[in-house]
Amino acid sequence: GKGLAVFTSGGDSQGMNAAVRSVVRMGIYLGAKVYFIREGYQGMVDGGDNIEEANWSSVSSIIHKGGTIIGSARCMDFKQREGRLKAAFNLISRGITNLVVIGGDGSLTGANLFRQEWSSLLDELLKTNKITKDQREKYKYLHIAGMVGSIDNDFCGTDMTIGTDSALHRIIEAIDAIVSTAYSHQRTFIMEVMGRHCGYLALVAALASEADAVFIPEDPVPYNWVEKLCKRLHQERKSGQRLNIIIVAEGAIDREGKPITAELVKKVVVDNLQQDTRITVLGHVQRGGSPSAFDRILGCRMGAEAVMALMEATPETEPCVVSLDGNQAVRLPLMECVRRTKAVSQAMADKNWDLAVQLRGRS
Ligand code: ATP
Repeated sequence: GKGLAVFTSGGDSQGMNAAVRSVVRMGIYLGAKVYFIREGYQGMVDGGDNIEEANWSSVSSIIHKGGTIIGSARCMDFKQREGRLKAAFNLISRGITNLVVIGGDGSLTGANLFRQEWSSLLDELLKTNKITKDQREKYKYLHIAGMVGSIDNDFCGTDMTIGTDSALHRIIEAIDAIVSTAYSHQRTFIMEVMGRHCGYLALVAALASEADAVFIPEDPVPYNWVEKLCKRLHQERKSGQRLNIIIVAEGAIDREGKPITAELVKKVVVDNLQQDTRITVLGHVQRGGSPSAFDRILGCRMGAEAVMALMEATPETEPCVVSLDGNQAVRLPLMECVRRTKAVSQAMADKNWDLAVQLRGRS
């Protein structure tokens, strides 16, 4: 059977285990020899025990676990050709020429580069007698299928990234908890949620928790935001509301690109309204814990589709990223999605927020 390996790379997210499980089982079901690569690209470069054959039961009882049981890492070595050469050797030694990468745009970019270089890496391994002529011929094509694990929902081409829904659940649970204590003491709470470049979590959490205000990177606040915010909060209290909730995404900014931090918002509220104001930074709580049903199913569906894409691949098949589009699992050209995702970041850096939102293509 075909040699296929799965690994998780970059930041972890809930639902990655469901995806790994699905890849392993679908791979075995379709007759492939499936491997785990532990610790992302680092395990691929280091080889040894990091690359281990998986069997049906090695992925039992993981679907409900958060994070990724096969580990994830950032890896400087893989950014160098030398590291990728080692990685290629480790894969060839085990007959692996199909990769399922679960990660963010960085991880997918690395996979694409690896595929582009594959032929020249093999030539170098042959020249230095690390591999045989037969191996050079047998393993000449590398196939890649990616899927996006990220709580931020920051990737172009998919409606939802794996982990976003669970993170939202966690945020909403935290806000509900805060609301009850805020109510008792008539407090204002500022909740900082993850999202450096993408305000999806903040925005949707604000809608679902009937927050009074939200600050996100894609919609920088106007010059008179202090006045508007204070007016709003004041009105809410006057109309009998005992508390206020304000959600701030990590990457929130004003029109000049200056950060709008939870601390800054707190100062504004305290200075202008003298409300008893507290900050809660949710941090990594958002990334931990068990995945929601949605993320489990999403991981399962994406994993199965990724394996099918690899099994059906011909020498001409380009790397794909498996995405959710209108609740359908689809295969999209990997680099096109990565380019669009990077273009969003660039548009935001250029303060062209309308373009950023348009490029992201989500309503
Ligand atoms: P997250 O969204 O959580 O940050 P990510 O996949 O974008 O996930 P990165 O840290 O950018 O996270 O990338 C993960 C790893 O992928 C890197 O540590 C590196 O090993 C590899 N990688 C990223 N970019 C490249 C690249 N241009 N060339 C080769 N490898 C890369």
